[in-house]
Amino acid sequence: MPYPSFFNVFCHRDHATRVFSLVTKRFFYFPFPWDEVVDVADADHDVAAKLLQSGLFLEHRGYLDQVDEYFQRMEKQDNRNLAVYFCVTSKCSMGCPYCYLNHVARRDSSIGLVDKFLELLKSRLYKAPHIPVLHLVLTGGEPLGRIDLCLRLLTGARDACAQHGVRLDSCLLTAGAFGKESALLSLQAAGLGGVQITFDGPRMAHEKTRSTPYRGTLDMLSDLATSFSLG
Ligand code: SF4
Repeated sequence: MPYPSFFNVFCHRDHATRVFSLVTKRFFYFPFPWDEVVDVADADHDVAAKLLQSGLFLEHRGYLDQVDEYFQRMEKQDNRNLAVYFCVTSKCSMGCPYCYLNHVARRDSSIGLVDKFLELLKSRLYKAPHIPVLHLVLTGGEPLGRIDLCLRLLTGARDACAQHGVRLDSCLLTAGAFGKESALLSLQAAGLGGVQITFDGPRMAHEKTRSTPYRGTLDMLSDLATSFSLG
């Protein structure tokens, strides 16, 4: 019988539960309170097994035992996974004063570079040892400034992974300078698994840091995060 993990971070709102597992580094959403999740797991072995796999539950009950279990799971993790951070474009309109890209000439990637990357990826996935998971992170600058390149990269990686039995775990890092929810939804349809949206702290800090055209983005980003997580 597994037990709720001490390595869960909760956000409760409107009777729903949003929870992040520090064990598997994944977010989960339940449209009901956490107590109900625990009750269902108590009554149903299959549900309990899935919660164990997700990292939301662990095999041991006590805190110290769960700490040991956490480290054992970390040691067993498959290190053959491939992680790629692809800078789609270093251009970005936010103008954050601390941005490390302020020191370089900002420019887009190109269709040729994306295709070359996909070619290299396919040749690597074809060879042994087999890669179980490809972690692909689309980053920038503001990657949604070149949604065409994002789509080309994602669909190419998705097809290559499907062909070689590799699970694609993709994510896009954005500051929200694009202003269109439809851009994210088209990427979601192309297989995008997650979005990391940057907030510069609480409202005052966030609105002060962003450059003038984008002041007032915090509410827009909050709405976007909610619509994508429920989409
Ligand atoms: S949002 Fe990110 S990439 Fe854009 S200027 Fe700010 S720190 Fe740089």
